[in-house]
Formats: sequence, C-alpha cells, structure tokens
Amino acid sequence: MAGHLDGGRRDFLLKAGLGGGAMALAPYMALAQQRPTGTAANDFRIARVTAYSLQFEGTFEYGGLKKPSRDSATYVEVETRGGLVGHGITTIADPGAVAALVNLVAGPAIIGDDALRHEAIWDKLYWSLSPRGQTGFAGHVMSAIDIALWDIKGKAYGTPIASLLGGARAQVPVYVTFGPAFLDQNELVAVAKDMHSRGFNHLKMVVGSNALPRRDTRPMDQVVREDTARVAAVRAAVGPDAHIYVDGNCSFDLPNAERLTRNLMALGLSFFEEPITQNDVRLMADLRRRTGVTLAAGQNETLAYRFRDMMLADAVDYVQPNVMIGGGYTGAVKIAGMAAGFNVAIANGGAGALQNMHMHAGLANGGFCEWHLPWMGLNRRLYKNMPEPAKGLLAVPPGPGLGFEVDKDGLMEMRVRG
Ligand SMILES: [Mg+2]
Repeated sequence: MAGHLDGGRRDFLLKAGLGGGAMALAPYMALAQQRPTGTAANDFRIARVTAYSLQFEGTFEYGGLKKPSRDSATYVEVETRGGLVGHGITTIADPGAVAALVNLVAGPAIIGDDALRHEAIWDKLYWSLSPRGQTGFAGHVMSAIDIALWDIKGKAYGTPIASLLGGARAQVPVYVTFGPAFLDQNELVAVAKDMHSRGFNHLKMVVGSNALPRRDTRPMDQVVREDTARVAAVRAAVGPDAHIYVDGNCSFDLPNAERLTRNLMALGLSFFEEPITQNDVRLMADLRRRTGVTLAAGQNETLAYRFRDMMLADAVDYVQPNVMIGGGYTGAVKIAGMAAGFNVAIANGGAGALQNMHMHAGLANGGFCEWHLPWMGLNRRLYKNMPEPAKGLLAVPPGPGLGFEVDKDGLMEMRVRG
C-alpha cells in the first residue's frame, strides 16, 4: 500500500512506523515501558480480527405501541496475542460488504501489528482502503476496527476510553431519537409523550423520510406539509419547554428544505440535522444564512476536509463526527479538535451513543449523544451490562475500555451466515 506513494515524508513515516525494524521501535520504547508488565496480557500484537454481519428483527415497544423494528450492523472483534479482546461496531452501510472488507482485506493487513499504536494502524488502513482519498465503506471498516483497538487500549491500562481521551466529565447529556418514519402521526405523539414523561426533554424525530432518494413517492410539497403537521402535533403534546430536533437524513433539495425549515422554526426547533442532499456545503450555508436555522451535519463524513469546509463556509452550528462511521476515535477526535478551533459545537448524530459517549465525556468540548430508540433494540440484544440513560444523562461505565461486553448468544442469533 505504500509502494505507490512517492518518496519524501510519507515514505519516511512509513519506514519509521510499521515494519520498519529497530528504527521503528525507538519512539515507542518509552510507551512500552509504561505498559502493564509481568502478565501474558502485555503482548499487544494483533492475532485475530473477525467481523460479523448482523441483522436484527425485533419490536419497537414504546408509548404503548408494539411494532416490528429492523436494524443491521457490522460487529468486529480484535484479539491480541496476549488474549485481550476489543470490540467495535459500525452501521449505515451494507453489513455484508463491510464484514467482507474487514475479514478479507483490513484484518489480514494488521495481523502482527501493535494494537496500542492506533495512529499507525489508522494510517495504514487509510492508505490501503482509500489510496486516492475515497471514503465510502473504508470509513466504516476503519471505524469498527479503531473502536476495538481503543477498547483493547482501555483494557490494557485498566481505564475507560473516556479517561484515556481526557476524562472531561463522568456523564454526558443525551437526546432521544424517538420518531422514526415508520410511526404515523398518532403513534409519534404517543412515543413523544412517553419519552418526555421518562425525563427526556430533548427529542429528535425524522423528517423527509427518504424523499429525495425517491423511495418515498409522495410529491415533495406533500412531504413538507405532512412533516410540518407531525412536528406540530409533537410540539402540542410535549409543551413549549421541550427541545425538539429534526433529522432530514440528507433527503431535501434546497427549496423544500427552506420551506420546511421556516415552518418548523415557527414551532420552536433546536436544530435541523442533515437537511440537504449529500450534505452539500454551499447549499447548507445558503439555508442557514437565509433562515437563521441552527444546523447540524457530519455523521456520515470521514475526511477531515469535509468538516473543515463546513466550518469555513459557516454551514453548520454543530459538527457530528461519529466514531462508528468517521474513522473511530482516532479520526473523530481530530474533527473535535478542529471544531474547538472554530468555536463550533460537536454533537453525536447517526446513533452509537454507547461508543460516542466516550469521546463526548473524554473531551472538554464534548456535547450531546444520541439515544436512538430503534438502534438500541439491536444494542440490547448484542451487549450485556450496557449502560442506560437516567434523567437525560448517560454515565460512563466504570469498567475498562468501552465498559460493556458482547452477549455471545445475541451475536450468534443476529449473525448473517453465508
Ligand atoms: Mg442523523
């Protein structure tokens, strides 16, 4: 993967890094001396990387409803020669394709590497999977592996990932994503009331359900009209003091995003997440300038320059690097640092509160995490001893690494074979 990169600094960095012999070890001697010693656990070379494609078929049981709910994910385990096992996860990309990439390409590429050297492994995988700066599946593959590596690092040092990242706070605020598109308006209101009564005062719902990708055949003006009615009904149900957020999942063009934005701002809107197709930076900046809406975006981005351009263009009020999609903690903390330099807030979008909470608790400029009700169905089947929010707050588990472990029965039940 390095061969096609000409000379200069990158060759030097690669030679000085992985596989560079004695020269490569020198910068890490001090680090190595700080590691746990005297146990079999101190051989951190990667021995195994395994990915599983998961499909969840469950029920959405809130607000007195019981509806079928589906989700999917790619779950990854990384094991060291010393026997430490870290786990990671990614979603919003075909799980079979991501699992195959991990099992056939990314995993074999890092066998024998030091699991604690997350920057070296991130760089190696980036140039292997994205030799011309493509993103796509590469970001998902790198994210799931990187989360597992940080889980291993936390276990090696006996501390939560949030502490390794800086330990800014012990708990993070959460907003609840209560309103998927499969709920009709009455169901939406019932679930909103249920969540509000459970102490969630920050509530997010989907708008524009796949309008622009044309999986929804309604005319766009009808989508705008019906979404306005749905949000108005929720506002009437939860009262004026609740914070309402909407997520467009990149489903609108600019004119219809603007119409909906103006309607929703009149109802009280805390932010509009990813309103515009492809997170088009110029159009998001136009929308924000024309309407004054508070805008959030970035959960599906991997490359740092995309976030840089959003902030340079004054296109966003919140950037949303997601450790499950944007390159793991190793990638997302760089975006968080850049956001601090722009005095732009960060927040979690794209679900994954259990993983993202460590970054938002670890960093001083951390923010909200997303408690996504349908996604939590899959999570409760996949994990044991996972934390749950109380009164709108999610406390970092005290255990090392992520602080929760996989339920092997749940993993095997959801695993897609073939
Ligand atoms: Mg989102």
